[in-house]
Amino acid sequence: MSAGHIIPGHRPSGPLPPNRPPAGLSAAGVPGAGPPDPLSDVLVDPQGRRLDYLRLAVTDRCNLRCRYCMPAAGVALGERDEVLSIDEMIRLGALFAGLGVRSFRITGGEPLVRRGLTTLISALGALPSAPEVLLTTNGLLLADNLDALAEAGLRRVNLSLDSLEEGTWTAITRREGFERVRAAIDLVLARGLGLKINMVVLPGWNDHELDDFVELTRERALTVRFIEPMPFLGEGRLCGPGIAGPEILARLAVAPIIEAEPIRAGAVEKLFRVPGFAGKVGIIEGHSRTFCGTCRRLRVDARGRMRTCLYGKPSAFLRPLIRSGADDASLIEAIRRAVAGRLPDGVAAEADHRRHNLESMVNIGG
Ligand code: SF4
Repeated sequence: MSAGHIIPGHRPSGPLPPNRPPAGLSAAGVPGAGPPDPLSDVLVDPQGRRLDYLRLAVTDRCNLRCRYCMPAAGVALGERDEVLSIDEMIRLGALFAGLGVRSFRITGGEPLVRRGLTTLISALGALPSAPEVLLTTNGLLLADNLDALAEAGLRRVNLSLDSLEEGTWTAITRREGFERVRAAIDLVLARGLGLKINMVVLPGWNDHELDDFVELTRERALTVRFIEPMPFLGEGRLCGPGIAGPEILARLAVAPIIEAEPIRAGAVEKLFRVPGFAGKVGIIEGHSRTFCGTCRRLRVDARGRMRTCLYGKPSAFLRPLIRSGADDASLIEAIRRAVAGRLPDGVAAEADHRRHNLESMVNIGG
C-alpha cells in the first residue's frame, strides 16, 4: 500500500523509529503500556524535532511572475485534476491535526486564485484541536476577499511585497497591480488582522529600499521581514548573490539602536524592535539556513506531495493514496514514514535532492 507511493530513495525502509508507535496506534492504546504518553501521536523526526507546522499549498498557479521565482513564461503546471480538491485538503488537514499539527499556513502559488479557500480555512479552524490558520499572499486579490477570509476565521496574513516603488515592484513581478497590493497593508490592519510583510532582498533591485520598509513599522503594528533569496527556479542567480542576513541588518539606518527580541522556539526569523516604533523588523536567513536545528515545518504542495524540508525532494505522494481509497491509517503511515526519513537540515536535504534548484516556489508551496 503506502510503500508504493513513497518517493523511492528517500525514506528509510523497515520499522519506524522506536519512539513512534505503529500507524494509528498510540502507546496509550497498547495494553499494559503504562500511563498515556501525551507525545505518542505527534510527529517527531529522527533529530527529535517535533513537527507541528504545515504549509499547505492550495494551488501552483500565480498571478505574478516574480523574477526570483519563475521565468517570464511561467513554469509547467499540473492539470487541474492533479491538484488536490478542497475536500482532500480538509481530510489531510484533519489527519495532520490529529498528528499534532497546530498551525496551517495556506500558500501557493497564489492562494487567492483558488476557489473554495474560505471553506478550507473555516474547516481547518473548526477542527477539534482548533489549530491556527494563516495565509501567505501576494495581496493582489486581497481587498476583494478580506472580509470573507476574516469571517472564515483568518487572523493573520503574510503579505509578499518586494518593493514600495511601483516601477521596481512591476519590474520584479512582471505584472501590474502595485497600488492594490500597497493598499492591502492598511486594509489588513484596519480589519484587525495581524500582518507580516515579507520582502525578498534582491541586490541591485530593491536593496536600496530597506530603510523604507523599516519606516513602515514606525506607526504600524506590523512586522517587516527581510528574506535572503533562495536559489529556486527563476532569475535569482541573474540578480547576483544574495545578501546574508547579518549584512542586511548592518545596512539598516537604525542598526545602531535596534534591539533583538528573544528568539521563539521553532521560529525561522530573528526579530528586532526599533525603540519607539510600533512594529518589528525581522530577518529570515532562508539561504543561510541558520534555523534548521529547531525547524518544525512540513509541506504539502498542491498536487499532494509532502516534503519535510523546503530544500528536499518530495518524501511522500499523498494524492494517489487518497484517490486509490486509502484509509486514514494508511495515510498516517505514509506521513510518519516521510517524517522518519527527515534529514538534519536544509543543506543535507538540498544535497539529497538530485534536482535541486530546478523547481519553482509555486511548485513547492512557498
Ligand atoms: S532549510 Fe529545511 S530544515 Fe532548514 S529551516 Fe528551512 S525547511 Fe526547515
